[in-house]
Amino acid sequence: MLYTNSTGLCHICLEELVPIHQIECAACRLVFHIRMKENEEARDCGSVWLDEDSEAMVFMCKTCQVENKVGPMGMPPYFV
Ligand SMILES: [Zn+2]
Ligand SMILES: [Zn+2]
Repeated sequence: MLYTNSTGLCHICLEELVPIHQIECAACRLVFHIRMKENEEARDCGSVWLDEDSEAMVFMCKTCQVENKVGPMGMPPYFV
């Protein structure tokens, strides 16, 4: 799979990405929709949180959060 700066499809919802609302997943390296601000009108196909060990922002798609059992504040919002 090729990565470019242009828009592509989100691997979660399979809809077109918006350049300012897309990010690469830390786990699967595929691109998904991310909402950068809480009050923004944008699709959310994953989450971002601060990893306390590395003090780095972690971006991860819904699928990987469930698979890896991780998420913001240790509370994956997509658990069923
Ligand atoms: Zn999406
Ligand atoms: Zn992923």
